Amino acid sequence: MSSFAYAVPKTKDEALALLNELGPGGRVVAGCTNILPDIRAKKITACTLVDISRLAELKGINVRGEKVTIGSLTTINELLHSEIVANHGQVLWQAGQRFADPLVRNRATIGGNLANASPAADGVVPLLALDARVMVASLAGEREIPVDAFFTGPGKSVLQPNELITGVSFAKTTTMKSAFIKFGLRKAMAISLASIGLVVGLKGDKVDQVRIALGALAPTPLRARQTESYLAGNTLTPAVVARAQEIVRTEVKPISDVRASQEYRLHLTGVLLKRAFEAALA
Ligand SMILES: Cc1cc2nc3c(=O)[nH]c(=O)nc-3n(C[C@H](O)[C@H](O)[C@H](O)COP(=O)(O)OP(=O)(O)OC[C@H]3O[C@@H](n4cnc5c(N)ncnc54)[C@H](O)[C@@H]3O)c2cc1C
Repeated sequence: MSSFAYAVPKTKDEALALLNELGPGGRVVAGCTNILPDIRAKKITACTLVDISRLAELKGINVRGEKVTIGSLTTINELLHSEIVANHGQVLWQAGQRFADPLVRNRATIGGNLANASPAADGVVPLLALDARVMVASLAGEREIPVDAFFTGPGKSVLQPNELITGVSFAKTTTMKSAFIKFGLRKAMAISLASIGLVVGLKGDKVDQVRIALGALAPTPLRARQTESYLAGNTLTPAVVARAQEIVRTEVKPISDVRASQEYRLHLTGVLLKRAFEAALA
């Protein structure tokens, strides 16, 4: 039989003490858009739900010098209404527009999107393209983890049961170009079949800096590092883009499922790369 307790800590320290005491028997809840369906589906049957949604310390979007920080309780809707995100982390703003629908965006948090660790998470792909760091706290102190090193498999991450994601941070991308493309079976409310986040800076006609992040194409969202290395210093001629499309297809490990075959996802990977450059540089 299901048995749940519910706790509402008033401060971050109170939440951390509670998570420490509960261990694997505690479960953080923020916007509840992932966890409630899981409870209804009986994937979670007994635990103490630790509701962090009122912790002001985990809210807010700030910019200091070259660095942007976003509290883990920031909702996708708040990202979309933030001039800081629109101007200095454009790829995250672009991804927010393709996230679920307005109802879900009002509740879904960026921290929950990270902690849920879906290979298709639409908030994570732009954070990878921003080379963001995840800020995590426990009673033992705070640590920062590159988003690239955060995930270990589908639904799995390095986050421990006694830890809270407090926020994310990244360097401004104000002068760079970005694109986010989500390919789903519908225009809205679709799980990504494949997605791409691109951040690119040019020097003259050559690629100076480039970060390519891919979603739903491997057990975790990933950076296409070999493609990035190939493109750096190159001019984006049709031949260079075609070669980059070949390389990027070797970097992913898509699965076949009810929504698409492995072959189709592989094909999409190259198509999305080309489209992302076209969109970013248009
Ligand atoms: C109808 C619908 C449509 C959706 N569409 C999309 C979509 O288009 N794209 C997409 O990426 N996702 C989508 N989702 C999934 C979901 O909305 C997101 O993953 C969302 O960001 C989860 O955030 P949350 O605050 O609701 O998390 P919750 O459900 O509250 O928590 C999710 C998980 O994260 C943990 N957690 C939450 N916050 C923290 C924290 N600060 N520290 C540590 N652990 C934490 C919880 O313990 C739980 O395991 C959709 C969900 C629904 C129901």
